[in-house]
Amino acid sequence: MSELIPLIKELISTPGVSGFETEIAQLIVSKIENYVDEVKVDRLGNVLAQVQGKGAARVLVDAHMDEVGLIVKAIDDKGFIRFEVLGGIDNRVLPAQRVIIHTRKGKIKGSIGVIPPHFTTGKERDRVIPAENLFIDIGASSREEAMEAGVRVVDPITLHRGLDELLGSRICGKAFDDRIGCLVVIECIKRLKDQEIAADLLYSFTVEEERGLRGATVSAYSLKPEMAFPIDTTGAADFPGVKPYTTTIELGKGPVIRAVDVRFVSDRQPRELLIETAEKMNIPYQLAVAMGSTDGAAVQLSREGVATCPLCVPLRYTHSPVEVVDLRDVENTIKLLTETLKTIT
Ligand SMILES: [Zn+2]
Repeated sequence: MSELIPLIKELISTPGVSGFETEIAQLIVSKIENYVDEVKVDRLGNVLAQVQGKGAARVLVDAHMDEVGLIVKAIDDKGFIRFEVLGGIDNRVLPAQRVIIHTRKGKIKGSIGVIPPHFTTGKERDRVIPAENLFIDIGASSREEAMEAGVRVVDPITLHRGLDELLGSRICGKAFDDRIGCLVVIECIKRLKDQEIAADLLYSFTVEEERGLRGATVSAYSLKPEMAFPIDTTGAADFPGVKPYTTTIELGKGPVIRAVDVRFVSDRQPRELLIETAEKMNIPYQLAVAMGSTDGAAVQLSREGVATCPLCVPLRYTHSPVEVVDLRDVENTIKLLTETLKTIT
């Protein structure tokens, strides 16, 4: 078993739906506080940390803490929970999922109910059910019973999935986007401890990336970096059904130097630094045009501009409860990031 797995399990099982990141923020603070000079949680809930170097440059490493999830919208009179989606979860993956509602009184488990084939016509079964028609069954028989148990409107809801080891070095689970990025940054912080680094290293674990890069907008402003490496996952397109040339990214082929995505073009200096380091250290990498976006799009435009290039771990089935990554890519991302930070003078 990879030595990274226990921490990945801890990171994905700690809730942090966009806008509700308190628990995951506490966990991350506890993982890094012994390895940094300073750590704090800002007003929006971002975890910000710093390690003083020799003042060569202010370099930011960022990962978002939030995960896509759901939120309680209403409790009906039979005790079923109606919900809204927070972040880009596809309605196709929701029916028949197990979930956890995070209430004031603790965690309540439930399942997203699904009408059985016996009660539906063939045509109905072919249709995607809109989220507003879905509901969570927590075992309650009335609204009163659900409320008595602690459920309130606006309680966040996470998908309830553990981590499974697949063949080879691949693992499957939920919230790899971007807890795998958080893991990469935590490992980088640990591995750089007591190393002589010329740059002042700034770290942000941000809130609400999935709701429009909101946390990174303020974390970059307050940390004042000159250069930034946002660490995220990025969609691999190496499985059946994806249109050819959607992107060239594959699992197991190394970290992705995210040159361009739908909202962003990376800056030359950090991009070349990543490429040169990968080639010098013989670390496999993929230079790619990616789909989606990252905190990088917000960080780059902070203050007078920040030279930015995201570094990403290839991920299959993004924003679903069965995301898949290859641990070799995770290890190589940690290696490429730490080696690159060491080269900045
Ligand atoms: Zn992400």
